[in-house]
Amino acid sequence: METEQAKTTSWIDAHCHLDLFKNEADILADIENNGVRTVAVTNAPSVFHHTLELAKRTPLLCPAVGLHPELVASRGRELQSMWPMLEQTRFVGEIGLDYVTNDEENRRAQRGVFTQIVERCAQFGDKILTVHSRRSASDVISVIGDRFPGKAILHWFSGSRAEVDRAIAFGFFFSVGPAMVRSKTGRALLARMPRERVLTETDGPFVESNYRPARPSDVMLVIAEISQLWGQTDDETRAVISGNFDSMTR
Ligand code: MN
Repeated sequence: METEQAKTTSWIDAHCHLDLFKNEADILADIENNGVRTVAVTNAPSVFHHTLELAKRTPLLCPAVGLHPELVASRGRELQSMWPMLEQTRFVGEIGLDYVTNDEENRRAQRGVFTQIVERCAQFGDKILTVHSRRSASDVISVIGDRFPGKAILHWFSGSRAEVDRAIAFGFFFSVGPAMVRSKTGRALLARMPRERVLTETDGPFVESNYRPARPSDVMLVIAEISQLWGQTDDETRAVISGNFDSMTR
């Protein structure tokens, strides 16, 4: 039984922008050589096809179709083209809301796009969303709601304690990355999350690790930090995270 488990246990990068690395081939090699199951998010429907093609090269890649909230103003018109793409993958992201902008018009447009995507995904029943919620956690949680038929992963969550508690009550998962485990507030939020809802991510290449853009195998560093907090070995933590990904994608 033990060897059986060792075979299926793998590293998990639940949120990586593979298509935005300059050295895509090196990143694919990193994924393959280290056995990192990687959700390759995209920021606009027009770039999804490329990642879908890359995913044919390794079963470790899960391509996701998305429309990033910060691109809604410039790429919002691509929304219609996303609908047929939803037939091609179970993973959807990067989507969500970003309230760094104070422009109410922009925020409203983001909510319109995000709400439509969530509604379309709900019709499938088995979609897995990877969601951005910077300064917008409360609205993000409300839009997805507590009856979403599928799974939602809040990536790099930075909301309040009350908001994380609400997301937990709604059944959401959380993908935790290098920046989050490095910060005190990030670790405090992580401590509130049930272990069976935690996944690892890098958000590479936007996040740095070892003074270069984080690559999927850098989830090993995140696992080490989580292990400290959970008071167990890295192998045990890796098995938990890998099992969480399995239960989510079952
Ligand atoms: Mn991202």
